[in-house]
Amino acid sequence: MSLIVQKFGGTSVADPERIQNVAARVVETAKAGHRVAVVVSAMSGETDRLDTLAEQFGGREENPREYDVLVSTGEQVTIALLSMSIRQLGQPARSFTAAQMGLRTDAAHSRARIERIDREVLMATLEEGAVAVLAGFQGVDAEGNITTLGRGGSDTSAVAVAAAIEADVCEIYTDVDGVFTADPRVVPAARKLERISYDEMIEMASLGAKVLQIRSVRFAMRYDVPIHVRSSFHKGEGTWVVPEEEAMEGLVVSGVSFNKKEAKIRVRGVRDVPGVAARIFTPLSDVGIVVDVIIQNLSQDGATDLTFTVPRSDYARALQISQQSGESVGAEAVDGDDEIAKVSIVGLGMKDHAGVASRMFSVLADEGINIQLITTSEIKVSVVIEEKYAELAVRALHAAFVETGAAEPQAE
Ligand code: ADP
Ligand code: ASP
Ligand code: MG
Repeated sequence: MSLIVQKFGGTSVADPERIQNVAARVVETAKAGHRVAVVVSAMSGETDRLDTLAEQFGGREENPREYDVLVSTGEQVTIALLSMSIRQLGQPARSFTAAQMGLRTDAAHSRARIERIDREVLMATLEEGAVAVLAGFQGVDAEGNITTLGRGGSDTSAVAVAAAIEADVCEIYTDVDGVFTADPRVVPAARKLERISYDEMIEMASLGAKVLQIRSVRFAMRYDVPIHVRSSFHKGEGTWVVPEEEAMEGLVVSGVSFNKKEAKIRVRGVRDVPGVAARIFTPLSDVGIVVDVIIQNLSQDGATDLTFTVPRSDYARALQISQQSGESVGAEAVDGDDEIAKVSIVGLGMKDHAGVASRMFSVLADEGINIQLITTSEIKVSVVIEEKYAELAVRALHAAFVETGAAEPQAE
């Protein structure tokens, strides 16, 4: 007998028929003798619908607390419906909101972090032989306010529950067969990975692969929770997200990701003296804007340019703030561009192979794609390019590094 957490995403519970399919799958697992906790998202499209509604009343920024009260309701609908559906099949089940299962977070609305979960409540339900059906995405802070965990946050709820009850596995059921070498919607030749390491998955998620929310993978790594990403439409094996030593498939590049949700800001002609960067970036961090790639040009005649990226949703505010700080440090000009994309290759094998980055640049050059910014880490290389070339770049890089396997420059 195992203790299993099963998480079903929005498309898996999109309509009554799919909810019944999910119920059947959960009951089958329970009838096979396992104890099951199920975490569900809102029906697909529902969180977007609620977000659009909120926009008509000032949106998230003006009403962070009420925004979370609103957008967390989608999950309350699905836990109730799924519990009813499971019970119709003769299996005891009980739904829990975040407050009911004691899922405590900090008070950061719309991006709250999980602090603790009341393990006893869940274990008592499971030990009775009932299925615990849990609302993903939502939490409560120390004062009892409803919080949410950020878009895609049900993945993190599921892994946190799995860690709290020390589950044997956290199964993430979704609308694709597993984690692919690139988004299968963009790259038809992408293939499913059998296994991927936590580190690679964290990079892929943070670089745009929304199949798992990045925080869920960090959590899984910290608490040693094995994740199995698999299809909710059939029973085939998906992808296991596991520690590095178990993950090796011998690939240099395991995945190609892209992200169109960033924008670029350039502060031109600032004096190259101590303190300038701090005066530009501190006002941004003070309002919670996260800066990603930062490039500073070599200075010429004592002046330099600073270019950086920010989330596209913060672009207007970031540009305005940077224009003010640019003025105060005597910058020549501050401008920006929100039609960019970041395209990345990720792979543990890069640690041991030289020349991967230069090969990436050649592949892009052959397609006539200009590189605006470059950033690297031990297991990834990212470039910022014009947004309209994102798909072309992803396909070309996938063809060069994954499909041909010709990623080993030393063998050329
Ligand atoms: P859910 O609603 O089940 O949480 P999501 O839409 O959040 O599902 O995530 C699944 C989607 O992630 C897939 O439909 C796919 O288009 C996208 N995706 C992006 N990159 C990848 C990748 N490398 N492997 C698999 N899916 C990916
Ligand atoms: N319903 C939330 C969202 O759409 C959480 C999730 O699906 O994971 O982002
Ligand atoms: Mg998701």
